[in-house]
Amino acid sequence: MSKTDTINIKKINRSRVFQLISSCDKISKQDIANELSMSLPTVTQNLNELLEMGLISNNGSFVSTVGRRARAISLISDARVAVGLDITRNHIALVILDLKGNIIHSVRKRMQTAISTVFYKKLADEIYAFIDEANINRDKVLGVGITVPGIVYENGTKIGEAASIHMAPDFYDIFHDYLDIPFILLNDAKASGFAEAHFSGYTSNMLYLFLSNTVGGCILIDGKVQTGNTCRSAEFGHMTLFPHGMRCHCGRYGCADPYLCAGFLTQYSNDNLSLFFNELENGNPEYVKIFENYLQNLSIMINNIHVCFDYDIVLGGYIGGYMGKYLDQLKSLVAERLTFASDNTDFIKSCTLKLESSAVGGALHYTQAFNSSI
Ligand SMILES: [Zn+2]
Repeated sequence: MSKTDTINIKKINRSRVFQLISSCDKISKQDIANELSMSLPTVTQNLNELLEMGLISNNGSFVSTVGRRARAISLISDARVAVGLDITRNHIALVILDLKGNIIHSVRKRMQTAISTVFYKKLADEIYAFIDEANINRDKVLGVGITVPGIVYENGTKIGEAASIHMAPDFYDIFHDYLDIPFILLNDAKASGFAEAHFSGYTSNMLYLFLSNTVGGCILIDGKVQTGNTCRSAEFGHMTLFPHGMRCHCGRYGCADPYLCAGFLTQYSNDNLSLFFNELENGNPEYVKIFENYLQNLSIMINNIHVCFDYDIVLGGYIGGYMGKYLDQLKSLVAERLTFASDNTDFIKSCTLKLESSAVGGALHYTQAFNSSI
């Protein structure tokens, strides 16, 4: 066996031990050996390496009524963490995710994007303050996944079309002078879809329809985000829904975005989506009418997407988080439009991850890369 093969096998073994410990609350050395069909000396060697890396603890014990109590080995889930930052036109949302995917801190606040040194400084200060508030040592932060409502190119280093916010295309290069933590830029809808697939344990192919302040999407095939040839895949918000219709933020008329974004629902509720859904639930007739109109538009969109992608369609983003209760209403509207008579509407699902899914996806980018590098 070559030296490279030996190194690879060692790495695979360590990774398997790490993944197993990560997947349970606590586990004994013997159970690891049994579970992975690995010898006890090999398990011990891997545990020592993981202990040295500060990733696991073996201080706990199992309750036993007979004989010696086995040591309980567990993951130190906050041994490393990642930050997710979602930037929209008027807000930022920040989350900290530990290695198990738990959100250990989150905040959402008003902040307007701008192309100015004041904005960059303020944004970096917010990130530092957020990490300090959570009592996290900055050395533990793997990175900051920054999600934006725009096309992101060149492996997360360039912002392309992002007409809904004011951000410089070379934001990545500029922001390095302000933030001394690794970071990457990601499209908000794709990050959100990636997080949804991860946390809902989705294994089939999925089409994620991102319904938030803007409308986008994410195509997941075999668990992988499909970016397309020019990173512009799944930009469903700019499919034409009504030729000569309302003006979209892209400058064209009749795109789906202005009909399916949060602003369509909150036109009378001061940009407040939870207020809108409260009023809807209270039966406010004006809101009921807006929502019926919204669902009609959404049903057209869903059937259009369904004839292109014969996958499940998961409704996500801020609006998707509220859709569970109204899914049957939507399904009956889609049923009236289905192209294929033998089809049914079981392919329409509401999302599992209901809050800050873009920011979570941003942080997940780093925690998942770290977990799979062990
Ligand atoms: Zn458009």
